This record gives sequence, C-alpha cells and structure tokens, in this order.
Amino acid sequence: MQEIKDMVCPFCGCLCDDVTLGIENGSIVSTDNCCTIGNAKFLGKNRLKNPIQKVDGKWIDITYDEAVDAAVDILLDADRPLLFGWSGTHGEAQCVGVHMNEILGGVIDSTTSVCHGPSILAIQEVGHPGCTLGQVKNRADLVIYWGCNPIEAHPRHMSRYTTYADGYFLDNAFRNRKVIVVDVRETETAKVADEFIQIKSGGDYAVLSSLRAILRGKADMIPASVAGVSKTQLMQVAEMCKTCSFGALFFGVGLTMAKGKYKNVRNAIELVDDLNRHTKFTLTPMRGHWNVYGANEVFSWMTGYPFAVDFCRGVAFYNPGETTAIDILARKECDACMIIASDPAAHFPRACVEQIRDIPMIAIDPFQSLTTPLADLQIPVAVTGIDAEGTAYRMDGIPIKVKKVMDSGYPSDTEILTRIYQKMLEVKGL
Ligand code: SF4
Repeated sequence: MQEIKDMVCPFCGCLCDDVTLGIENGSIVSTDNCCTIGNAKFLGKNRLKNPIQKVDGKWIDITYDEAVDAAVDILLDADRPLLFGWSGTHGEAQCVGVHMNEILGGVIDSTTSVCHGPSILAIQEVGHPGCTLGQVKNRADLVIYWGCNPIEAHPRHMSRYTTYADGYFLDNAFRNRKVIVVDVRETETAKVADEFIQIKSGGDYAVLSSLRAILRGKADMIPASVAGVSKTQLMQVAEMCKTCSFGALFFGVGLTMAKGKYKNVRNAIELVDDLNRHTKFTLTPMRGHWNVYGANEVFSWMTGYPFAVDFCRGVAFYNPGETTAIDILARKECDACMIIASDPAAHFPRACVEQIRDIPMIAIDPFQSLTTPLADLQIPVAVTGIDAEGTAYRMDGIPIKVKKVMDSGYPSDTEILTRIYQKMLEVKGL
C-alpha cells in the first residue's frame, strides 16, 4: 500500500492539511488523522458514474461532449438562470462560474446565503477583528464557542486549534486554556466546556448586550436574569474574558440564524471590540462548507460582492433577501439552474426544492445527493483533494493549495466549466 502524507481533507472549513491516505490499486483504502466525516468523504463510494440526461422522463447515457452541449442549451435558453452552490469546489472553478454568469446575465450564489450570510453583512458594517487558527492555537488562553458545536460539526477543530491542542506561547495549554460554550441546549461541546451558558432561544442579542454593558461598567443596569442566564454568571464570564491574555470567539449558525440574525453578529463583533480595550480578543465564523470562504473571496474580488450576485442589468448587483437563491426560487423567478458542489435539496425549504425540480436543472457533482435525482442533466466530476487539485480557503481566510492524489478520468470542475463557458462564447459569437 502506498502512503501519501499532508493531504487536505475536502469536507469542512477546517481544511485539515495533515491527512495521510493509503492507496491500493488506484483507490483510497485508508485515512489517518481524519475525523469520521472526512473519512467518509475520502472513502465515499456513491460516485456518479458518467453523464446522463433525462429524456421523456427516462435517463440516457451521454458523452461529456453531449453533456457540455446540453448544459449550454439549458443555460442559454433561460431568461433568468441561477448558478448555485460553489462551496465544495476550488477557487479556479468559482472564477469560471463568475465569467459564465456575466455572459448569462444570471444570478450566482453560494451556500453562504443559508449559513454565514448574516456574518458577512455584519462584517461589512463594523469590520472583522479576525486572526489565523494558528494564532488561536498558539496564543489563546480563552476560547468561546457561541451557537456552534464543533465536536459534531468540525470534529478536529478542538484537537487541532483549541481545547486539546498544545500552544507554543502557552504554559500547559491542555489544562490552562479555558473554554466557554454559549448555546440553547447542552451539546457535546458544552459538556467538555469549563463554563456553559445556556440561553433561551432568541436571547443571543440580549446576552451579548449585557456582557458589553458589564464591560463598560454599567452592570447596575442588568436585571437578575437575561434570556435565562443569571447576572452572577454573566459577571463571572465578563471577568474571565476581560482577564485572559488572548481570547478567541468562534460562532456558528446558532448565532447567525437565530432571532436577530446579522444584528447578533454585529453585536458579537462589537463585544470583541469592547474586550480589546482590556485585552486581545478575536472573532472567527465557523464556516461549515469546505471552500465557502473561497466563494466569498472569489466573488468579491471579481464582482465586488461576496454572494448572491445578480448580473441581469449587465453589471453586478447585490441585495441579500432579493438576489439570494432561496428568494429567487421562492418567487419562482428563475427558469433554469445549475447546481454545483452543493446539495440544496437537503437544506432548502420545500417550495424552493420543488422549483428546482420543476425547471431545467444541471447538477455538477462527484457524488449522488438528494439534489442529483431532481436534475435533467447530471455531469460527474472529480473531487478536489482526491482526483483534482485547486485552491481552497480555510475558515480563517488562509488559502491552501490542495493536491490531487490520483487520476480517475473524471474532469475537474474547472475543466468542465471551462468547456461549457467556451462553448457558450462560441454559440453567442463572442
Ligand atoms: Fe475534514 Fe473537517 Fe474532519 Fe478536518 S475536521 S478531517 S477538515 S471533516
């Protein structure tokens, strides 16, 4: 068995880059340094086999050339196409997607709009006091997880960067680093925290404001209990934050999608600003989908906007709540869509999934998913990090070059999108 070291896991926003793969007879047979979720992706067996198209309700096998032609027909026939997904693919493919969208005059959106879209809106208003995960690992003596459960969603986050990791500038990090969890229920992460703050659902904004009031010397304004949290506990937590040497606040969709949405995140950023009057404190969104951060970067540098970019006027336009995929689908506005590297049928509201089912849809994905059976055209591609290479961004905004480990014969997302884009230019005479 051949062993290949330092591979990047292609699943979550941690982008763990210390994975060892065992290869035998052209297949991955084992993984080392990988959590169960990453392991399942590396060893995934449910790959799409070859391009197929639905004709009169029946699937027929087609070639890649025919699939490219069919994709171009579907997209160019549409008045308002939607290009959605992008979080599971590499930055180079995302670039081609933006070029395609400009030609089509459609909407390009990533899974950001259903996870950390509110974080981006808040960051646009008040900035981002962030840092790298390496800084957290080596310096943070206090970590807060707010509305997220890394033990189940980012299983190696705590062992690589926080609770169970060594810290170069820390003395006995394992014992001395303190962890606070804020959540509406006692999660697996909450069970191993030094302090668990259980808040009532929708109470995040009030708790954040109370902590800020305490830090600004206005504790007398705080009632005996705020969103189910006692004033005594709030005072204790504010003191822990104020007196640490380096604090890191991580937050998930439990904060971004709770009542208050982007105002919650704005308040969290302003809490971190207040803490920086006393000590050093940083904030990082726990990005879930692998390269969703990269989609925001690529869309921003190419169009000026991080997600939900509408080119129907010939120039980029962005208005979350109007140009976001869910809103466009719910209004039954788009008349064709291309779903790439994501599985909206597993996450979107029913009405949106029905609209995806009812319009011509192209699914570009390495694996079968809940979305692929709804497609009119399925195009199998390589997995970045297994049979394709590319660039992806970690949750702290660090770009990482992802290597290819084997040649499976599947085209990469960049290859297939470039072929579709070039054919589109040819048909339009551009
Ligand atoms: Fe992969 Fe995320 Fe698990 Fe790391 S924590 S091995 S990136 S799924």
